[in-house]
Amino acid sequence: MNALLATPIAYLKGVGPQKAQTLQEELGIYTFQDLLFHFPYRYQDRSTFHDIAHISTEEQFVQLKGKLTHIGEMGSGRNKKLHARFTDGSGYIDLVWFQGTQWIKSKLNVQDEFIVFGKPKFFQNSWNIPHPELLKVVPGMERKGYEAFYPSTEKCQQKGLASKGLSKLIAVLLELVAGQIPDNLPNYLVADLNLMSRGHALKEIHQPSSETQIKIARYRLKFEELLFLQLELLLRKGARQQKLKGFSLPEVGSAFHEFYQNHLPFELTNAQKRVVKEIRKDLAEGSHMNRLLQGDVGSGKTLVALLSLLLAIGNELQGALMAPTEILANQHFIGISELLAQMKINVALLTGSTKKSERERIHKGLGDGTIHLLIGTHALLEDTVQFKALGLVVIDEQHRFGVAQRARMWRKNKIPPHVLIMTATPIPRTLAMTFYGDLDVSVIDEMPPGRKPIHTVHRRENHREKLYSFIHEQLQLGRQAYIVFPLIQESEKLDFKNLEDGLEQIVSYFKPLGFLTTMVHGKMKPVDKDAAMQTFVQGQTHILVATTVIEVGVNVPNASVMVIESAERFGLSQLHQLRGRVGRGAEKSYCILMTGDGISKEAQKRIDTMVSSNDGFVLAEVDLQLRGPGDLMGTQQSGALALKIADLARDGQIVQLARENARTILDEDPTLVLEKNRYLNLALREVLKNRPNWGRIS
Ligand code: ADP
Ligand code: MG
Repeated sequence: MNALLATPIAYLKGVGPQKAQTLQEELGIYTFQDLLFHFPYRYQDRSTFHDIAHISTEEQFVQLKGKLTHIGEMGSGRNKKLHARFTDGSGYIDLVWFQGTQWIKSKLNVQDEFIVFGKPKFFQNSWNIPHPELLKVVPGMERKGYEAFYPSTEKCQQKGLASKGLSKLIAVLLELVAGQIPDNLPNYLVADLNLMSRGHALKEIHQPSSETQIKIARYRLKFEELLFLQLELLLRKGARQQKLKGFSLPEVGSAFHEFYQNHLPFELTNAQKRVVKEIRKDLAEGSHMNRLLQGDVGSGKTLVALLSLLLAIGNELQGALMAPTEILANQHFIGISELLAQMKINVALLTGSTKKSERERIHKGLGDGTIHLLIGTHALLEDTVQFKALGLVVIDEQHRFGVAQRARMWRKNKIPPHVLIMTATPIPRTLAMTFYGDLDVSVIDEMPPGRKPIHTVHRRENHREKLYSFIHEQLQLGRQAYIVFPLIQESEKLDFKNLEDGLEQIVSYFKPLGFLTTMVHGKMKPVDKDAAMQTFVQGQTHILVATTVIEVGVNVPNASVMVIESAERFGLSQLHQLRGRVGRGAEKSYCILMTGDGISKEAQKRIDTMVSSNDGFVLAEVDLQLRGPGDLMGTQQSGALALKIADLARDGQIVQLARENARTILDEDPTLVLEKNRYLNLALREVLKNRPNWGRIS
């Protein structure tokens, strides 16, 4: 870092050891640079004024210019209150003080002109401003520009380091470093992208000259932040590809060919073909594959997974497919065994409930290579599970697996197996580019042909009769229905009662009509759960009442109705996952979101989004806006959230631009040794030194 900017903050005029300590402890400000990068969260334009007559909200700060018409006191002792009537010609407002009244009163005179700044409150039918800021208007006074507001803490405030105090220090600092802040982006980039220089941007962000300049300055600083992030991610990705050799799979192999030519159940969609090609290319190149496969619910990821596994098997290696639940693992095992029935490929299933003798047989078969493909749950991760040569691991629905768990798969071989992670929760592009920026990403963005969009509606309790008769109609047509209840940890008991009451109501309605209901929930023993599930899968029962245990992967193409009870309590991606359980067959399918009457604005937005879109990527974008990146990605990868100014929910375009530019720079100069990238290289190292350790995906 530039020596001047690296100066400890205690050396700034007006700071000293005590304040320095507070700045460090409370705001993480250690150096001049840290203070320069403590950005305002808001600005107030001090050159324009509101009309009193138009004040209409309690939220906003207002700035008024006018005269005092009356000053008076009320109450006595500790309850003393000072109020001053103030007018700007458009109306009147009361300025009120509860503290320091004596001193303030001595500063006020009727007919004095003031600029008043504060948050208006509506109280007893009129507007007033408690404890406003006042600035006396004197002739020739220049109009003040923008005031910046800084994040601060209570401890800071006690030390005179509230927003105003910080602002003063920053002003001192800006003067001191004026003209001495070098740019850390290469000239060619600054010129190409028409960016503001770094020094100028830092000045403008603290002491803006106009709204437009604030925007340009923020843009520059966001770009800089995101560019370094992308450089880091791409360098890391490059390093992984160079350093880690995976098994080289030069052949397409007979397993793949035979399946593709003779047993493929349907023609692949173009998206599936493209993704298979991408994977095939990775595997043939001999570098290590770490690929994220995104595809909406029902887009046909399983088939892609199977084809990839066949590539490994055809090259004399083994494959593994790991699912997050026993139900899913079973389902994959049954489906894949069927598809491979006429081929000489040995598939085994390993879950928590696999019997000891079977387990031993599996261990042996994996060790001597007679088992080619292992499907299972977490049980695959146990150290006793050893392969002869594991070539590829597919992890289905990755959100359910922790980072550490995935890392364990790596230790199964000397050469780490290739990894394909599949997720049915689409991740907004921006987040994919940052959180998974060091992975390769494939996207299946096309649904298999013949899918009809699921008709989604929002209904309330007064509609229940109609809902039941609609379900009845569908059952009479031979279809099946899911009815899902929330079961959320904190209020588990109550939820459970709702579930049981719901079940009772449903059974008493449908049983006399000749339709059978079964129930699964997370508290059931896996065997019982599976048994209940099986009755539904096989069509012996017609309605499945469930908690979200059915959220991932379950495939019953004959089911055409998904009812979600208390839908306001589910997150958007969960709702979408649940809806994805229907619409899997040829029949028109329905999703009915049942809610109470008064639901929050956010819940309403989630429901509206569900009703208006079937596209998981659209939903993911809305989810990102509603919840922010932190919530969406979980705290595991929260390192990426240590962004000072860029906002992944809003700055998608800048992320994209930063990624493209990082790509171009590294394509030309992979290790940043060219003269023109010298400062960029130094600056990047500086950034990396301070980077918290990111959660790695595997
Ligand atoms: P997901 O991506 O949610 O895991 P699946 O792999 O379970 O989706 O596929 C959903 C359904 O679509 C399955 O019934 C599967 O057999 C079917 N399917 C997959 N690919 C195609 C295709 N190319 N054409 C027609 N149906 C397909
Ligand atoms: Mg799936």
